[in-house]
Amino acid sequence: MNIIRVSALNTNYIWILYNYRNECIVIDPGEAIEVLKILKRFQLVLRAILLTHNHLDHVNGVSILMQYFPKTIIYGPAETKNNSTHFLVSEGDDFVLLQKKFRVFHFPGHTLGHIGFYCMPWLFCGDTVFSAGCGTFCVGLAQKMYESFIKIRLFPSNTLIFSGHEYTLPNVNFAISILPHDRFIINYRNRVIKLREKNKSTVPTTVNLELKVNLFFRCNNVDVKRALNLSSDIKEKWQVFYELRKKKDLF
Ligand SMILES: [Zn+2]
Repeated sequence: MNIIRVSALNTNYIWILYNYRNECIVIDPGEAIEVLKILKRFQLVLRAILLTHNHLDHVNGVSILMQYFPKTIIYGPAETKNNSTHFLVSEGDDFVLLQKKFRVFHFPGHTLGHIGFYCMPWLFCGDTVFSAGCGTFCVGLAQKMYESFIKIRLFPSNTLIFSGHEYTLPNVNFAISILPHDRFIINYRNRVIKLREKNKSTVPTTVNLELKVNLFFRCNNVDVKRALNLSSDIKEKWQVFYELRKKKDLF
């Protein structure tokens, strides 16, 4: 199986998986035009669309793609039901596409019904984990987002994380503001700057890398807690996670 990264809208990534028979799967088509160009260029036939959540910048291309490929089967969480989704899937569901097994994981936080698709070693996590960062969430879903991060950290360390956006440079700049002396984050930032200067992507990332550069996986770190000036009544790790995200929003 091969994968093509399509840059769309401002910062979105749409992922296209295809096999040797030129059959393909599109993940989170926030728009159709760029996807159709690639399908034409590589002469790919669309077999399935996978949706991680129901935000317009992840689903807006579905109806046009369906006009071109009406036999396409759509998989998504319950919140995507108005996008003609054929299979509403949830945690633990398995299915096979293009001879590959996919497993569904529930990653609530960015939206309540947000899911991810795992096709070993690839994890399509939508707007949950970004390289060195984390998707937005409302106050009420902070603990759920934290728990989704816990779930993702348990994936094999070589898992490739395909996020829905290119946000790495601002994320890593924020990480440096919290841990200015962390050699690993400093080196990563240098690498990211070089890649972005050449307009190259920093995604996919890996679980192994994120455990080092993503502070949202490091809420236990004393220096992170100190940088957040947390009051001593904060006991729960998800509260540290929430404070970190709040600080990032103001960054
Ligand atoms: Zn979103």
